[in-house]
Amino acid sequence: MILVLLGPPGAGKGTHANLLETKRSLVKLSTGDMLRAAVAAGTELGRKASVIMERGQLVPDEIVIGLIAERLDAGSKGEGFILDGFPRTIAQAEALDRLLAERGTTLDGVIEMQVDDEALVERIVGRFTCANCGEGYHDSFMQTKVPGVCDRCGSTEFVRRRDDNEEVVRSRLEAYYAQTEPLIGYYKRQGKLVSVDTMSEIDVVHPAMMQALDAIKSKSVETPG
Ligand code: ADP
Ligand code: ADP
Ligand code: ZN
Repeated sequence: MILVLLGPPGAGKGTHANLLETKRSLVKLSTGDMLRAAVAAGTELGRKASVIMERGQLVPDEIVIGLIAERLDAGSKGEGFILDGFPRTIAQAEALDRLLAERGTTLDGVIEMQVDDEALVERIVGRFTCANCGEGYHDSFMQTKVPGVCDRCGSTEFVRRRDDNEEVVRSRLEAYYAQTEPLIGYYKRQGKLVSVDTMSEIDVVHPAMMQALDAIKSKSVETPG
């Protein structure tokens, strides 16, 4: 199964992709994570991307399309992929359709994660992750059980993203509304969109995401090919 999580920065794509990944044996492909890995590794691609990411703009389509193509070719160890943060432009969506068709498969569905703008900034400026295992947390909404210790791996080192500040978030939201939001109509017209309200707590949103995933799954089983 190939599933896309679509939503503005801070909607909870990463958080819920991680939860669905374990529950439904899918593999998460996050272009944001891939780009940050390239930045950390200091590759040429990473150097090119980091300047753009720090401004809160989108990196060129061909870069992220290339990253996704590589991962699709590497295959999935699970029952398919959850795409987190890709596609983000119509050109990327069209490229994805093409990449999947070339591999004899299609996109099963898209979950649109709906959230109010005011909540996004608060979610993003409070976000941090474990430096060792990448588990995601939030200053107010998702604290570690023991202060300063990762629930998952016990590490005491955490990181915050350089672009997770109020100023850059504004640019990222602008980029979302100008370049990514049109994908809602694109997928609606294809009958592939399921919307989930993500204004409630993570524990409440998670079952709604599972329901949306299962609805997409049963629909793609009913209409094979
Ligand atoms: P995205 O990948 O869409 O940018 P994240 O999954 O990283 O978003 O979530 C952003 C921040 O908001 C994280 O710190 C996460 O813990 C927190 N968060 C995610 N979902 C919710 C929610 N439903 N309510 C409150 N905070 C949330
Ligand atoms: P979030 O969803 O929290 O905004 P991501 O981790 O998905 O953040 O993306 C971080 C940054 O990486 C984006 O602001 C953008 O610069 C770049 N990026 C990630 N995915 C894409 C993509 N599909 N197309 C273009 N740029 C991307
Ligand atoms: Zn950890």
